[in-house]
Amino acid sequence: MKITIIFPGRSLETARSTGAVMPLAPCLLAALTPKEHNVSLVDMFMGDRVNYESDVDVVAITVRTPLATIAYGIADQFLRRGKKVFLGGPHTFAFPEEAKQHATAVAIGEGEDLWPQILKDIPNNDLKQFYVCGPFPVQNLPGTVHHAKQRPGLEKLPFMRRDLLPRGRYMMDSIFTTRGCPNHCRFCPVTDIFGGKIRHRPIDEVVAEVSTLGPRYYNFDDSVFGHPQIVDRPEENQYYLDLYRELAELRPQRRWSGAGGLSAVDYKDGRRILELAAESGLSSIAAGLESISPQGQTQSGAWRKLHYTSANAFDVQKMKENVRTIQKLGIEVRGFFVIGWDEDTPETYRKTLDFCDECGITPFIFTLTPMPGSQIYREYLDQGRIFPGRPWDEYGTGHVIYRHPIMSAEEMFDLDAEVMTEGYSMGRILKRTVQAFRHRPSLDVAKDSFFTQLGVRKAYRQLYEQIPRPGSA
Ligand code: SF4
Repeated sequence: MKITIIFPGRSLETARSTGAVMPLAPCLLAALTPKEHNVSLVDMFMGDRVNYESDVDVVAITVRTPLATIAYGIADQFLRRGKKVFLGGPHTFAFPEEAKQHATAVAIGEGEDLWPQILKDIPNNDLKQFYVCGPFPVQNLPGTVHHAKQRPGLEKLPFMRRDLLPRGRYMMDSIFTTRGCPNHCRFCPVTDIFGGKIRHRPIDEVVAEVSTLGPRYYNFDDSVFGHPQIVDRPEENQYYLDLYRELAELRPQRRWSGAGGLSAVDYKDGRRILELAAESGLSSIAAGLESISPQGQTQSGAWRKLHYTSANAFDVQKMKENVRTIQKLGIEVRGFFVIGWDEDTPETYRKTLDFCDECGITPFIFTLTPMPGSQIYREYLDQGRIFPGRPWDEYGTGHVIYRHPIMSAEEMFDLDAEVMTEGYSMGRILKRTVQAFRHRPSLDVAKDSFFTQLGVRKAYRQLYEQIPRPGSA
């Protein structure tokens, strides 16, 4: 069969400006496709166009909430042409029935077992309407269901099919090492989708795959320093210690980035994990710090991943110290903050930027988006706080789609635009670049830092110009 896997995107998306990363999900799905099929990839983030007149038999599309309308539009066009269309991704997890209106069948959960099963069922004329992987309730799904209750193991996975995309146009390759997250932050659906138990890919398989990558890659692990609730389990720490020790020996060495918290600073093995990660080439970390207030830490649930025993134990001084410790290892800290928790005020935006300035954190300050599939979305929906009738396109950066008790949507939009514009003034960009160079005297690292920040500056300026201010329509 001829198969096309589509990763939807649109011109507003920031990927191209901020340093494009090879997309993980479509390259992995392509790798899971048995050899007898002819598979191609379309990455719309990078400007690929969809050819609706192609002679493909099967189309698979990743659906993420802010791009769901686009994904459904593509799916409908192919359905009208008689193609078999399969939808999967985080949005189908939250709204399987909605997705089914635009698909031959919908996949819910991880694709390792589901995708090969779908491809077997097509020639046998035995397609089900839903393919589910994981311990999810399926009894209310309206139609036939294939249900693999166990989540897949991550051993012996094929290497991602990076060869199907022009690699030269990506700033970074990508890879993943673990799946699952025990933290259950209230704004994030990852724990529900991938489970609270962490599954690891075998170290030798990760190292073998990294040795095929270009000079830079992004590791899509949920926390590359391990997870706070389980850090005291020696075997969990050992995974990261062994992995980074081996990656540090790999030649040529690659520079890499990933997501991680600050908690590793607080325990002995964690410090060693940090040092080895830095030695293995880790040059920047996307740290989900979420809030500089105890109330924000409570409402986001982020205190767990920052390794506080409770939200009340949150200490902003400690957060600063931990950031500095990580920076001194030569790892640039990109701080992700969500503003819009109930006690947040207009000053919270400014204070958060001041905090980033003081610590030399590269700021990513966003207004909260209650994302479907998350606990916050369900709660706000029950409380009637989600603005009704908003298209899925507005569930993303720059938009305000819920009612805050103190701030209006207009105010939050303006403040968000203000801090992200100021946060990327040329003066600040240069200052942070110099700091990155001081911590790790490497021209390549300084260049990465500078150009990534320049990309963020451009992307956000475009974004706030293009998105209509709430109430201005
Ligand atoms: S935000 Fe990060 S730490 Fe929190 S649940 Fe999601 S993946 Fe886990």
